[in-house]
Amino acid sequence: MELLATITRLSHQFGTSDYVKGGGGNTSAKDAQTVWVKPSGTVLSGLKPDDFVAIDRSRLALLYSTPTPADPQTREALVKDIMSAAVCPGSQGRPSVEAPLHESLDARFVVHTHPALVNGLCCANEGKATAAKLFPKALWIDYIDPGYTLCMKVRKDIHEYQQRYGKQPEIILLENHGIFISANCDKHIEQLYADVFAILKAEYVKASVAVEFPAVRPLSAEKLACARDAFSKVFTTEHSAFIAGVETFAAAEGPISPDHIVYSKSFPYIGIPTKEGVAAFVQQRGYEPAVVITDDAVYGLGTSQKSAQLALELAIDGAMIVHYARAFGGIQFMSDRARAFIENWEVESYRKKQMG
Ligand SMILES: [Zn+2]
Repeated sequence: MELLATITRLSHQFGTSDYVKGGGGNTSAKDAQTVWVKPSGTVLSGLKPDDFVAIDRSRLALLYSTPTPADPQTREALVKDIMSAAVCPGSQGRPSVEAPLHESLDARFVVHTHPALVNGLCCANEGKATAAKLFPKALWIDYIDPGYTLCMKVRKDIHEYQQRYGKQPEIILLENHGIFISANCDKHIEQLYADVFAILKAEYVKASVAVEFPAVRPLSAEKLACARDAFSKVFTTEHSAFIAGVETFAAAEGPISPDHIVYSKSFPYIGIPTKEGVAAFVQQRGYEPAVVITDDAVYGLGTSQKSAQLALELAIDGAMIVHYARAFGGIQFMSDRARAFIENWEVESYRKKQMG
């Protein structure tokens, strides 16, 4: 089908590391009856046309009218059930938790990503005020917990936008999260992304913030082996069985977005890890670190080489966002409440499990 071929191509184009890391971001295509959404736990760059989960739009719309309990866990479980029930017969996979948001946009194609270049704005102290100036037609969404709450809030804001401007927004900027671009044709999606990038790059240049983030250098095999050996004596659980490392960079010391928390945890361990230090960290944070920052290196830890690498990649992405955010009043970390919600979020842990 033409529609699926196009959204697959867009998923690959906007599935590079400039736009997403790990299983981040999602895409969709729709006609009047059906919305095809990227399945949860998959990566954009690896999608094939048959992978998209076909969802019956009218059945999914039941979500908008069903009363939901206030308790987040019970609510997300109910939402998951409604979403599963809306999946068309013969279609496989679990739809992305952001599927209802995709459904709420009338445009044929929706491409949601988390580019560091854009998050430099979305995760900055002056992000909202600056976005109003730079992108007056974009819809800005104040930070809200992902999942059902986010979808319903965006749906309401899209409706208000429509009342005001007579059409839906093409650009939606989500505070401490990323961007949604929607359009009826693929060329228009590409154009909108190119415009947003060009405008932001010009702002970074104006603020003397380098558009090219300095490339991180790999650690020598020797140094990595040495760290692996030292870490294995300190970290003894499966959470930290594998490590990846690069030479030092200015890593973020707090939570930036839901994806950063999912892949690299809210806070890194700073310094050479010791048994006592790690025990104190676990005592304070409730988890083992996924990122360790020493004087001369940054390490990612995980249950597999892939998850260790992803923890490190998200740490690098976080550093880029901190770097870009300097142009807009500096980085704005997530609140303790917002952070705790993600740390306890079942849906995301499902995604991470799928990612391995
Ligand atoms: Zn997202």
